[in-house]
Amino acid sequence: MASMNDKDYYAILEVSQDASTDEIRKAFQAKARKLHPDINKAPDAEEKFKEVSEAYAVLSDPEKRKRYDAMRSGNPFAAGGYGGSGSPQGDYSGYGSDPFGWGFPFGGYTSRQTRHTRSRSYNPRAGADVVYDLTVDADVAKIGTRRGVTYQRYAACGVCHGTGSVEAAHAETCPTCKGTGHISVDLSSLFGFGVMEMECPECEGTGKVVADPCTNCGGSGRVLTASEVVVDIPADSHDGDEVRLTGMGNAGTNGSSAGDFVCRVCVPEERLTPEQSNGFHLLGFDLPFVVIGILAGVISSMSVFVGVIAILGAFMAFRGGFRHGGRWWTNAGKATMGGVTNGLVLALCVVGMFKCSSSMGTAGYMGRPY
Ligand SMILES: [Zn+2]
Ligand SMILES: [Zn+2]
Repeated sequence: MASMNDKDYYAILEVSQDASTDEIRKAFQAKARKLHPDINKAPDAEEKFKEVSEAYAVLSDPEKRKRYDAMRSGNPFAAGGYGGSGSPQGDYSGYGSDPFGWGFPFGGYTSRQTRHTRSRSYNPRAGADVVYDLTVDADVAKIGTRRGVTYQRYAACGVCHGTGSVEAAHAETCPTCKGTGHISVDLSSLFGFGVMEMECPECEGTGKVVADPCTNCGGSGRVLTASEVVVDIPADSHDGDEVRLTGMGNAGTNGSSAGDFVCRVCVPEERLTPEQSNGFHLLGFDLPFVVIGILAGVISSMSVFVGVIAILGAFMAFRGGFRHGGRWWTNAGKATMGGVTNGLVLALCVVGMFKCSSSMGTAGYMGRPY
Protein backbone atom coordinates (compact mmCIF):
# COMPACT_ATOMS: atom_id res chain seq x y z
CA MET A 1 0.00 0.00 0.00
CA ALA A 2 2.78 2.38 0.93
CA SER A 3 4.79 1.62 -2.17
CA MET A 4 2.28 3.03 -4.62
CA ASN A 5 2.12 6.33 -2.85
CA ASP A 6 5.89 6.46 -2.65
CA LYS A 7 6.42 6.55 -6.38
CA ASP A 8 6.02 9.95 -7.95
CA TYR A 9 5.29 9.11 -11.56
CA TYR A 10 5.26 12.77 -12.53
CA ALA A 11 8.78 13.19 -11.16
CA ILE A 12 9.95 10.00 -12.85
CA LEU A 13 8.79 11.30 -16.24
CA GLU A 14 9.75 14.88 -15.32
CA VAL A 15 6.39 16.31 -16.28
CA SER A 16 4.06 18.63 -14.40
CA GLN A 17 0.94 17.40 -12.61
CA ASP A 18 -1.30 18.88 -15.27
CA ALA A 19 0.71 17.62 -18.26
CA SER A 20 -1.36 16.59 -21.27
CA THR A 21 -1.39 13.02 -22.53
CA ASP A 22 0.73 14.14 -25.43
CA GLU A 23 3.37 15.74 -23.21
CA ILE A 24 3.49 12.55 -21.15
CA ARG A 25 3.98 10.45 -24.25
CA LYS A 26 6.81 12.67 -25.49
CA ALA A 27 8.49 12.60 -22.09
CA PHE A 28 8.29 8.82 -22.07
CA GLN A 29 9.71 8.59 -25.58
CA ALA A 30 12.69 10.73 -24.65
CA LYS A 31 13.41 8.76 -21.48
CA ALA A 32 12.85 5.34 -23.01
CA ARG A 33 15.30 6.14 -25.77
CA LYS A 34 18.03 6.93 -23.27
CA LEU A 35 17.30 4.17 -20.79
CA HIS A 36 16.56 1.20 -22.99
CA PRO A 37 18.57 -1.79 -21.72
CA ASP A 38 19.84 -2.49 -25.23
CA ILE A 39 21.38 0.95 -25.49
CA ASN A 40 22.18 1.95 -21.96
CA LYS A 41 24.53 -0.51 -20.26
CA ALA A 42 24.53 1.25 -16.89
CA PRO A 43 23.70 -1.23 -14.10
CA ASP A 44 20.51 0.54 -13.05
CA ALA A 45 19.28 1.31 -16.57
CA GLU A 46 16.97 -1.67 -16.76
CA GLU A 47 15.39 -0.88 -13.42
CA LYS A 48 14.89 2.74 -14.44
CA PHE A 49 13.43 1.72 -17.78
CA LYS A 50 10.84 -0.40 -15.98
CA GLU A 51 10.04 2.48 -13.68
CA VAL A 52 9.56 4.87 -16.59
CA SER A 53 7.37 2.35 -18.44
CA GLU A 54 5.24 1.88 -15.36
CA ALA A 55 4.85 5.63 -14.92
CA TYR A 56 3.84 5.95 -18.55
CA ALA A 57 1.37 3.08 -18.36
CA VAL A 58 -0.44 4.77 -15.49
CA LEU A 59 -0.29 8.41 -16.55
CA SER A 60 -1.18 7.77 -20.21
CA ASP A 61 -4.44 6.08 -19.24
CA PRO A 62 -6.98 8.71 -18.08
CA GLU A 63 -8.74 6.40 -15.65
CA LYS A 64 -5.59 4.96 -14.12
CA ARG A 65 -4.20 8.46 -13.84
CA LYS A 66 -7.29 9.61 -11.95
CA ARG A 67 -7.03 6.75 -9.50
CA TYR A 68 -3.35 7.41 -9.04
CA ASP A 69 -3.90 11.14 -8.45
CA ALA A 70 -6.61 10.32 -5.95
CA MET A 71 -4.38 7.89 -4.09
CA ARG A 72 -1.59 10.42 -3.90
CA SER A 73 -3.85 13.08 -2.55
CA GLY A 74 -4.81 10.60 0.18
CA ASN A 75 -8.42 10.55 -0.87
CA PRO A 76 -9.22 7.38 -2.78
CA PHE A 77 -12.84 8.45 -3.18
CA ALA A 78 -11.91 11.47 -5.24
CA ALA A 79 -11.46 9.13 -8.17
CA GLY A 80 -15.19 8.59 -8.54
CA GLY A 81 -17.25 9.92 -11.40
CA TYR A 82 -15.16 9.00 -14.40
CA GLY A 83 -17.55 10.63 -16.80
CA GLY A 84 -17.35 13.98 -15.04
CA SER A 85 -16.41 17.20 -16.70
CA GLY A 86 -12.79 18.19 -16.92
CA SER A 87 -11.62 14.63 -17.31
CA PRO A 88 -8.22 14.11 -18.92
CA GLN A 89 -10.05 12.66 -21.90
CA GLY A 90 -10.31 16.24 -23.08
CA ASP A 91 -7.00 15.65 -24.80
CA TYR A 92 -8.75 13.45 -27.29
CA SER A 93 -11.64 15.74 -28.05
CA GLY A 94 -11.95 16.55 -31.70
CA TYR A 95 -10.79 13.19 -32.99
CA GLY A 96 -14.32 12.33 -33.96
CA SER A 97 -14.61 15.43 -36.04
CA ASP A 98 -11.41 14.90 -37.96
CA PRO A 99 -12.58 15.82 -41.45
CA PHE A 100 -9.94 13.72 -43.17
CA GLY A 101 -10.56 10.41 -41.47
CA TRP A 102 -7.34 10.27 -39.53
CA GLY A 103 -4.51 12.44 -38.42
CA PHE A 104 -4.93 15.56 -36.35
CA PRO A 105 -8.10 17.61 -36.56
CA PHE A 106 -7.61 21.27 -37.33
CA GLY A 107 -9.38 22.24 -34.16
CA GLY A 108 -6.83 20.30 -32.18
CA TYR A 109 -4.01 22.69 -32.98
CA THR A 110 -3.92 24.80 -29.89
CA SER A 111 -1.07 26.97 -28.79
CA ARG A 112 -0.37 24.53 -25.98
CA GLN A 113 0.69 21.89 -28.46
CA THR A 114 3.93 21.86 -30.32
CA ARG A 115 3.93 21.64 -34.08
CA HIS A 116 4.81 17.98 -34.27
CA THR A 117 2.63 15.99 -32.00
CA ARG A 118 3.23 12.80 -33.95
CA SER A 119 5.88 10.37 -32.86
CA ARG A 120 8.65 9.42 -35.25
CA SER A 121 7.01 6.09 -35.97
CA TYR A 122 7.51 4.61 -39.42
CA ASN A 123 3.90 3.93 -40.31
CA PRO A 124 3.20 4.06 -44.05
CA ARG A 125 -0.51 4.47 -44.68
CA ALA A 126 -2.36 5.63 -47.78
CA GLY A 127 -3.92 9.09 -47.55
CA ALA A 128 -7.70 9.53 -47.35
CA ASP A 129 -9.89 11.24 -49.95
CA VAL A 130 -10.97 14.80 -49.26
CA VAL A 131 -14.69 15.18 -50.03
CA TYR A 132 -15.96 18.66 -50.80
CA ASP A 133 -19.62 19.57 -51.29
CA LEU A 134 -20.13 22.21 -53.97
CA THR A 135 -23.64 23.68 -54.09
CA VAL A 136 -24.80 25.04 -57.44
CA ASP A 137 -28.15 26.13 -58.86
CA ALA A 138 -29.99 23.83 -61.23
CA ASP A 139 -29.45 26.14 -64.23
CA VAL A 140 -25.70 26.37 -63.46
CA ALA A 141 -25.50 22.58 -63.24
CA LYS A 142 -27.23 22.37 -66.63
CA ILE A 143 -24.70 24.51 -68.50
CA GLY A 144 -21.68 23.45 -66.44
CA THR A 145 -19.22 25.67 -64.59
CA ARG A 146 -15.60 26.05 -63.53
CA ARG A 147 -14.88 26.81 -59.88
CA GLY A 148 -11.73 27.42 -57.85
CA VAL A 149 -11.85 25.66 -54.48
CA THR A 150 -9.52 26.29 -51.54
CA TYR A 151 -9.37 23.56 -48.91
CA GLN A 152 -7.10 22.15 -46.26
CA ARG A 153 -5.32 18.83 -46.62
CA TYR A 154 -2.18 16.98 -45.71
CA ALA A 155 0.35 17.44 -48.52
CA ALA A 156 3.68 15.71 -48.99
CA CYS A 157 6.44 17.47 -47.02
CA GLY A 158 8.61 19.50 -49.39
CA VAL A 159 11.77 19.08 -47.32
CA CYS A 160 11.90 15.27 -47.22
CA HIS A 161 9.69 14.69 -50.30
CA GLY A 162 7.17 12.76 -48.29
CA THR A 163 9.45 10.11 -46.86
CA GLY A 164 9.66 11.58 -43.35
CA SER A 165 13.38 10.91 -43.29
CA VAL A 166 16.22 13.39 -43.89
CA GLU A 167 18.57 11.19 -45.89
CA ALA A 168 16.22 8.77 -47.60
CA ALA A 169 13.28 6.63 -46.59
CA HIS A 170 15.01 4.45 -44.12
CA ALA A 171 13.31 2.88 -41.20
CA GLU A 172 14.93 0.96 -38.41
CA THR A 173 13.69 -1.37 -35.72
CA CYS A 174 12.09 0.50 -32.85
CA PRO A 175 14.50 0.54 -29.90
CA THR A 176 11.77 0.73 -27.29
CA CYS A 177 9.87 -2.42 -28.23
CA LYS A 178 12.58 -4.15 -30.28
CA GLY A 179 10.23 -4.32 -33.23
CA THR A 180 7.35 -6.14 -31.53
CA GLY A 181 5.10 -3.06 -31.55
CA HIS A 182 4.09 -3.40 -27.92
CA ILE A 183 5.64 -3.10 -24.49
CA SER A 184 4.73 -4.94 -21.32
CA VAL A 185 4.48 -3.07 -18.08
CA ASP A 186 4.35 -4.65 -14.64
CA LEU A 187 1.58 -2.99 -12.67
CA SER A 188 1.26 -5.52 -9.88
CA SER A 189 2.70 -3.16 -7.27
CA LEU A 190 0.06 -0.57 -8.06
CA PHE A 191 -3.23 -2.20 -8.86
CA GLY A 192 -2.71 -5.77 -7.83
CA PHE A 193 -2.90 -7.24 -11.30
CA GLY A 194 0.09 -8.36 -13.24
CA VAL A 195 1.73 -7.53 -16.53
CA MET A 196 -0.11 -5.31 -18.98
CA GLU A 197 0.58 -5.23 -22.70
CA MET A 198 0.26 -1.86 -24.39
CA GLU A 199 0.94 -0.39 -27.80
CA CYS A 200 4.44 1.00 -28.05
CA PRO A 201 4.16 4.81 -28.08
CA GLU A 202 7.49 5.22 -29.85
CA CYS A 203 6.53 3.40 -33.06
CA GLU A 204 2.73 3.44 -32.60
CA GLY A 205 2.66 -0.33 -32.83
CA THR A 206 4.43 -0.72 -36.17
CA GLY A 207 7.74 -1.88 -34.68
CA LYS A 208 9.67 0.54 -36.88
CA VAL A 209 10.80 4.14 -36.49
CA VAL A 210 12.24 6.67 -38.91
CA ALA A 211 15.97 6.68 -38.27
CA ASP A 212 16.51 10.39 -38.96
CA PRO A 213 13.15 12.20 -38.76
CA CYS A 214 12.69 15.29 -40.92
CA THR A 215 12.40 18.42 -38.78
CA ASN A 216 9.76 19.98 -41.03
CA CYS A 217 7.18 17.20 -40.74
CA GLY A 218 8.41 15.38 -37.65
CA GLY A 219 8.86 12.09 -39.52
CA SER A 220 5.37 11.59 -40.93
CA GLY A 221 6.28 12.86 -44.39
CA ARG A 222 3.29 15.18 -44.65
CA VAL A 223 2.24 18.60 -43.43
CA LEU A 224 -1.12 20.33 -43.07
CA THR A 225 -1.51 22.92 -45.79
CA ALA A 226 -4.05 24.90 -47.80
CA SER A 227 -4.45 23.76 -51.40
CA GLU A 228 -6.32 25.19 -54.34
CA VAL A 229 -7.82 23.29 -57.23
CA VAL A 230 -9.91 24.24 -60.23
CA VAL A 231 -12.91 21.97 -60.63
CA ASP A 232 -14.72 21.64 -63.94
CA ILE A 233 -18.37 20.76 -63.41
CA PRO A 234 -19.48 19.42 -66.80
CA ALA A 235 -22.75 20.44 -68.43
CA ASP A 236 -25.82 18.36 -67.52
CA SER A 237 -24.51 17.63 -64.04
CA HIS A 238 -26.97 16.57 -61.40
CA ASP A 239 -27.24 16.33 -57.66
CA GLY A 240 -24.92 13.63 -56.30
CA ASP A 241 -22.52 13.61 -59.28
CA GLU A 242 -18.83 13.53 -58.40
CA VAL A 243 -15.80 15.12 -60.00
CA ARG A 244 -12.62 13.38 -58.88
CA LEU A 245 -9.11 14.89 -59.00
CA THR A 246 -6.64 12.06 -58.57
CA GLY A 247 -3.94 12.52 -55.95
CA MET A 248 -5.24 15.87 -54.66
CA GLY A 249 -6.57 14.42 -51.38
CA ASN A 250 -4.48 13.81 -48.29
CA ALA A 251 -0.93 12.66 -48.80
CA GLY A 252 -0.08 9.28 -47.30
CA THR A 253 2.46 8.95 -44.50
CA ASN A 254 6.07 7.92 -45.12
CA GLY A 255 5.75 8.05 -48.89
CA SER A 256 2.45 6.17 -49.25
CA SER A 257 -0.01 7.03 -52.00
CA ALA A 258 -2.28 10.06 -51.69
CA GLY A 259 -6.07 10.09 -51.74
CA ASP A 260 -8.22 11.99 -54.22
CA PHE A 261 -10.05 15.30 -54.06
CA VAL A 262 -13.71 14.45 -54.57
CA CYS A 263 -16.03 17.32 -55.45
CA ARG A 264 -19.65 16.36 -54.84
CA VAL A 265 -22.20 18.38 -56.78
CA CYS A 266 -25.17 19.50 -54.69
CA VAL A 267 -28.22 20.85 -56.52
CA PRO A 268 -30.83 21.88 -53.91
CA GLU A 269 -33.68 21.89 -56.46
CA GLU A 270 -33.05 18.21 -57.19
CA ARG A 271 -33.01 17.17 -53.57
CA LEU A 272 -36.02 16.00 -51.63
CA THR A 273 -36.88 17.95 -48.53
CA PRO A 274 -36.93 15.80 -45.36
CA GLU A 275 -40.73 15.88 -45.50
CA GLN A 276 -40.84 14.75 -49.14
CA SER A 277 -38.34 12.02 -48.36
CA ASN A 278 -40.48 10.78 -45.46
CA GLY A 279 -43.55 10.92 -47.68
CA PHE A 280 -42.01 8.66 -50.33
CA HIS A 281 -40.73 6.40 -47.60
CA LEU A 282 -44.28 6.01 -46.30
CA LEU A 283 -45.64 5.33 -49.80
CA GLY A 284 -42.95 2.67 -50.30
CA PHE A 285 -43.74 1.20 -46.90
CA ASP A 286 -47.42 0.96 -47.84
CA LEU A 287 -46.83 -0.74 -51.18
CA PRO A 288 -46.06 -4.30 -49.97
CA PHE A 289 -49.24 -4.25 -47.83
CA VAL A 290 -51.35 -3.37 -50.88
CA VAL A 291 -49.74 -5.88 -53.25
CA ILE A 292 -49.54 -8.80 -50.83
CA GLY A 293 -52.98 -7.95 -49.42
CA ILE A 294 -54.53 -8.14 -52.89
CA LEU A 295 -52.71 -11.36 -53.76
CA ALA A 296 -53.81 -12.96 -50.49
CA GLY A 297 -57.37 -11.69 -50.89
CA VAL A 298 -57.46 -9.85 -47.57
CA ILE A 299 -57.06 -6.28 -48.84
CA SER A 300 -60.59 -5.33 -47.76
CA SER A 301 -59.77 -6.08 -44.13
CA MET A 302 -56.76 -3.77 -44.31
CA SER A 303 -58.21 -1.00 -46.46
CA VAL A 304 -58.41 1.59 -43.68
CA PHE A 305 -54.83 0.94 -42.60
CA VAL A 306 -53.28 1.08 -46.10
CA GLY A 307 -55.54 3.98 -47.10
CA VAL A 308 -54.50 6.24 -44.24
CA ILE A 309 -50.80 5.60 -44.85
CA ALA A 310 -51.18 6.21 -48.60
CA ILE A 311 -52.98 9.53 -48.09
CA LEU A 312 -50.49 10.72 -45.48
CA GLY A 313 -47.48 9.69 -47.63
CA ALA A 314 -48.88 11.31 -50.78
CA PHE A 315 -49.68 14.51 -48.89
CA MET A 316 -46.11 14.80 -47.57
CA ALA A 317 -44.49 13.86 -50.88
CA PHE A 318 -46.51 16.11 -53.16
CA ARG A 319 -47.52 19.05 -51.01
CA GLY A 320 -44.92 21.12 -52.90
CA GLY A 321 -46.28 20.13 -56.32
CA PHE A 322 -45.47 17.57 -58.99
CA ARG A 323 -43.21 19.62 -61.24
CA HIS A 324 -39.68 18.39 -60.58
CA GLY A 325 -36.60 17.45 -62.60
CA GLY A 326 -35.50 13.94 -63.49
CA ARG A 327 -32.98 13.63 -60.68
CA TRP A 328 -35.63 14.64 -58.13
CA TRP A 329 -37.77 11.71 -59.28
CA THR A 330 -34.75 9.41 -59.14
CA ASN A 331 -34.17 10.48 -55.53
CA ALA A 332 -37.89 9.99 -54.88
CA GLY A 333 -37.62 6.46 -56.30
CA LYS A 334 -34.71 5.70 -53.99
CA ALA A 335 -36.68 6.92 -50.96
CA THR A 336 -39.66 4.80 -52.04
CA MET A 337 -37.49 1.70 -52.41
CA GLY A 338 -36.14 2.27 -48.92
CA GLY A 339 -39.72 2.24 -47.65
CA VAL A 340 -40.52 -0.95 -49.60
CA THR A 341 -37.57 -2.70 -47.96
CA ASN A 342 -38.76 -1.65 -44.51
CA GLY A 343 -42.36 -2.62 -45.12
CA LEU A 344 -41.92 -5.98 -46.86
CA VAL A 345 -41.29 -8.27 -43.90
CA LEU A 346 -43.89 -6.55 -41.74
CA ALA A 347 -46.44 -6.80 -44.57
CA LEU A 348 -45.85 -10.53 -44.88
CA CYS A 349 -46.43 -10.96 -41.15
CA VAL A 350 -49.55 -8.79 -41.01
CA VAL A 351 -51.14 -10.35 -44.11
CA GLY A 352 -50.26 -13.77 -42.71
CA MET A 353 -52.10 -12.89 -39.51
CA PHE A 354 -55.20 -11.69 -41.38
CA LYS A 355 -55.15 -14.83 -43.51
CA CYS A 356 -54.84 -16.98 -40.43
CA SER A 357 -57.64 -15.34 -38.49
CA SER A 358 -60.01 -15.34 -41.46
CA SER A 359 -59.37 -19.05 -42.13
CA MET A 360 -59.95 -19.75 -38.46
CA GLY A 361 -63.24 -17.93 -38.80
CA THR A 362 -64.39 -20.14 -41.66
CA ALA A 363 -62.92 -23.50 -40.64
CA GLY A 364 -64.10 -22.86 -37.13
CA TYR A 365 -61.94 -23.17 -34.10
CA MET A 366 -64.85 -24.64 -32.22
CA GLY A 367 -65.29 -27.31 -34.87
CA ARG A 368 -62.30 -29.33 -33.71
CA PRO A 369 -63.37 -32.89 -32.98
CA TYR A 370 -63.55 -33.00 -29.24
ZN1 LIG B 1 9.54 16.18 -43.97
ZN1 LIG C 1 8.09 0.39 -30.70
